[in-house]
Amino acid sequence: MSLLTIASQDKTLASIAEKVLHRERLTIEDGLALYESDDVFSIAQLANLVNERINGNRVYFVQNMYINPTNVCEAKCRFCGFRRDQDQEGAYTMSSEELLHYVGTRFNDGIREFHIVGGHNNHVPFDYYVDTLRTLKKAYPDVALKAYTGAEIEFFSRIAGISMEEVLKELMNAGLESLTGGGAEILTERYRLKMSPEKASTDDWLLAHRTAHGLGMLTPCTMLYGSIETKEERLIHMSRIRELQDETNGFQVFIPLAVQPMKATAGIRRRTSAMDDIKTIAISRLMVDNVDHIKAYFINIGTQLTQLALRAGASDAHGTLVEERISHAAGALSDQGITKEDLIWLIKGAGKIAVERDTHYNVIKEY
Ligand code: SF4
Repeated sequence: MSLLTIASQDKTLASIAEKVLHRERLTIEDGLALYESDDVFSIAQLANLVNERINGNRVYFVQNMYINPTNVCEAKCRFCGFRRDQDQEGAYTMSSEELLHYVGTRFNDGIREFHIVGGHNNHVPFDYYVDTLRTLKKAYPDVALKAYTGAEIEFFSRIAGISMEEVLKELMNAGLESLTGGGAEILTERYRLKMSPEKASTDDWLLAHRTAHGLGMLTPCTMLYGSIETKEERLIHMSRIRELQDETNGFQVFIPLAVQPMKATAGIRRRTSAMDDIKTIAISRLMVDNVDHIKAYFINIGTQLTQLALRAGASDAHGTLVEERISHAAGALSDQGITKEDLIWLIKGAGKIAVERDTHYNVIKEY
């Protein structure tokens, strides 16, 4: 473990550092004090210490491929540039043939995981979503299926008229190995009523993951920050994740996602700042003390800031992706994917060991 001296003049920060050094859990008030502090480098240093206790010098990545089978969506989240109405220009819903063609023309042998999310399309039945997994599993039996958000699970349960547990069991029968972490946005009702009122509530989203964990599945979880939420709401979100993790121990990674600014109606005036991005990664590491990994998502904060985040508490640099569409529809400036070589370069440049993993964080190879 690293030795650490916080040279800050800030007495509040010094007392929080003492708590971290003694492995005491931080409160929401502590989190607010961290957000109020300008000493981003001391906060990053503390988060790096906590990360090194858990992960040593390792940073993980996966060779994966994003697939978005449909962009038709009954919800109208204010931050979303991806969704379309059924009859709107640009709307699509891939048939099995189109799905296999899409994947076949982009696949490479290194890919170990399909990451599948889409719109809440109520013009197709639940079977469409099950068949999507079956089709992929049949054609690519060695690739893990990480699919659908907690919000999609709640949507499927509504259109199929069955419980979330039954939805999950059917999807698992079709090959589902993990949910994706999305749809959480900010887990407070004030935020959700303003930004995504047609979508799963806080309790619904938490129940989807609680149920998945109960069925033996490990899942990721996200937080979409940078729009109308208060700092306190971010911290409430983190503490809700932390509470569920205390109960189930089913989350593998917490992923802060910087909102993208294309939607002028969403109360998003500008991109999140580098200060906010690094602080949010670091504060996530300090607050969400019971989840092994914090992910830096290069799609939304860029590769250079991602590299810095690896010294501020992040232990996962995500994956190769091939073709990201959702954040780019909302204005992401990054490339839509990254090569394995570039990911390794980025991780090693941060002075860390690059570890290729599978969906379940089993080690494939160290670089
Ligand atoms: S974020 Fe997802 S659920 Fe919300 S409108 Fe976009 S596609 Fe639909």
